Amino acid sequence: MSIIHFEEIRQSIQVKGICQKCSKRRSRTVSAGMTVNPFNKNPDGTVRTRSEIYNAVNEKLRVSTDKMKENFICKSCFDALPWPQEWPEKKGVSNAKT
Ligand SMILES: [Zn+2]
Repeated sequence: MSIIHFEEIRQSIQVKGICQKCSKRRSRTVSAGMTVNPFNKNPDGTVRTRSEIYNAVNEKLRVSTDKMKENFICKSCFDALPWPQEWPEKKGVSNAKT
């Protein structure tokens, strides 16, 4: 038995905003990734190609970025929040199996 490593397509983007908790101007990095594998399929059941995965990752990233802009909070305030709370990284923005 061998371990197969699938290639991961990962993208990240920096979001700037004013923290709603401490009112400081901060920036955070949002990242999203997906692996290229035979189980990563399109809604129509076909296996996603690298460029389709690339698009899907960008879409995930766009959703996370929009969410973050809506309710911007800096990393240190975020880490101090009680669990669970309304934040995409901890809730899991996407149900897509990666
Ligand atoms: Zn803050």
